[in-house]
Amino acid sequence: MKIFDAHTHLNDDPFWGQTASYLQRAQDLDVVEMAIIGSNQQFNERALTLAHDYPQLHAVIGWHPEFAAEYDEDLLVQQLQQPQVVAVGEIGLDYHWPQNPQPAQQQQLFARQLDLAEQYQLPVNIHTRDAFADTYEVLRAHWPHFGVIMHSFNGPLDWLEKFLALGCYISFSGVVSFKNAPEVRVAAQNTPAERLLVETDAPYLTPEPHRGEQNEPGFTRFVAAAVAKCRQETLEQVANYTWQNAHEVYRLNEKN
Ligand SMILES: [Zn+2]
Repeated sequence: MKIFDAHTHLNDDPFWGQTASYLQRAQDLDVVEMAIIGSNQQFNERALTLAHDYPQLHAVIGWHPEFAAEYDEDLLVQQLQQPQVVAVGEIGLDYHWPQNPQPAQQQQLFARQLDLAEQYQLPVNIHTRDAFADTYEVLRAHWPHFGVIMHSFNGPLDWLEKFLALGCYISFSGVVSFKNAPEVRVAAQNTPAERLLVETDAPYLTPEPHRGEQNEPGFTRFVAAAVAKCRQETLEQVANYTWQNAHEVYRLNEKN
């Protein structure tokens, strides 16, 4: 069995300098390929370094709305042309934290990066928090034609259906295993197998039965197991189709 972590931050401080050890721990849980997600200058550079050093790691490069003020488009455009980059992300809208940039500035940055993804023929990895309606509108107005992944989808059924109708892939994190998140399980049950991905978002959102510990990429196995349980499928089935979907959306078969 092979499991693909579609959104992880092995480039973040808790893991930095210990890549080989965390990759071994992941491999022991059958998690053998990953998309490493950037969000600002430092994490984008680290994602590129990891993807350069390890063939099973792929870089996703972009500016998270939290870092809108530091956006460097010349640097982003230069990085997007490197062969180890498989997508633009994580980009989107985050209205949860009052200290984040104003919605208008976030929307402008989001739209700009969607246009760059279209220009460079790359899929996108989307972060959205307390902002479904605006995320939907910006996506519709700047729809990139090379794949859209909604990362750690935590929404109700009506929003799931809207994003599926647009053509999005839906990626589930450890939240799908949380006792207090039944609507995420409803979303997982209602996502077609050919559009479903699994991710850790490590070091955040640790799945059961490890909740309370620091998350790590290997724990994608427990996310996939939680998805399998609520869909009445086997872990092997979920591992197989999410692996294929990740290869398809990140176009890894074309690159190898
Ligand atoms: Zn993330």
